[in-house]
Amino acid sequence: CGIVGYIGSQNAQDFVIDGLEKLEYRGYDSAGIAVNTGKSEFNIVKKVGRLKNLENALKENPLEGNIGIGHTRWATHGKPSDENSHPHFNKDKTLVVVHNGIIENYLELKKDLVAKGYEFKSETDTEVVAHLLDSLYEGDLLEAVKKLLKIIKGAYALGMMSISEPDRIIAARKESPLIVGLGKGENFIASDIPAILKYTRDVYLIENNEIVEIKKDSVKIMDVDGNEIKRDVTHVEWDL
Ligand code: GLU
Repeated sequence: CGIVGYIGSQNAQDFVIDGLEKLEYRGYDSAGIAVNTGKSEFNIVKKVGRLKNLENALKENPLEGNIGIGHTRWATHGKPSDENSHPHFNKDKTLVVVHNGIIENYLELKKDLVAKGYEFKSETDTEVVAHLLDSLYEGDLLEAVKKLLKIIKGAYALGMMSISEPDRIIAARKESPLIVGLGKGENFIASDIPAILKYTRDVYLIENNEIVEIKKDSVKIMDVDGNEIKRDVTHVEWDL
């Protein structure tokens, strides 16, 4: 279970896959990636099994874009399968989410969403986040996430993107690890430092109940109401 996200001017896919490889030690049963390739919907590729399976699929169908999020899954709700792999997405694939942890109230949320007409493609707890975001989204992902976090219960590190906001990744954390890697003209999110150590030694350690907005040239840490939190940069001295 690991999350990696990249935003910058280079090919997001390369950084995301490399980062996921570095997180393999955390264990996983499937892997996936979503990239904003400038189309009207996200390009999403997800494969059960080894990361190699995902890499092979990407060789045939490389994703060209400068913003992307990836995930290695350790299944808690729903068997390991292509469909249950992350990223999960809303109906028109304009919102995507990767998640580590467990959404404890997903069954009641799913019931409400199904009653509203949302169709689920997977058996995971995570997919409720994608449809819930869809129901809360009014053109501003950060605003939707602030509302989302007041509704979901459980443990999570979340990475989220909207196709119409190609300049930012929004992430959030509660009881599951999350760090931000600070580059030059590029920034990263990851579950753990090894994922990004090849690219930067400067990181923000994200704490519980925090939201982060990651742009190419800026990172903003906030509490769940959106108030900015100042954090010192941690400089990593150790090597892999
Ligand atoms: N609970 C989620 C799932 O089963 C996320 C698991 C994980 O942390 O990888 O899909």
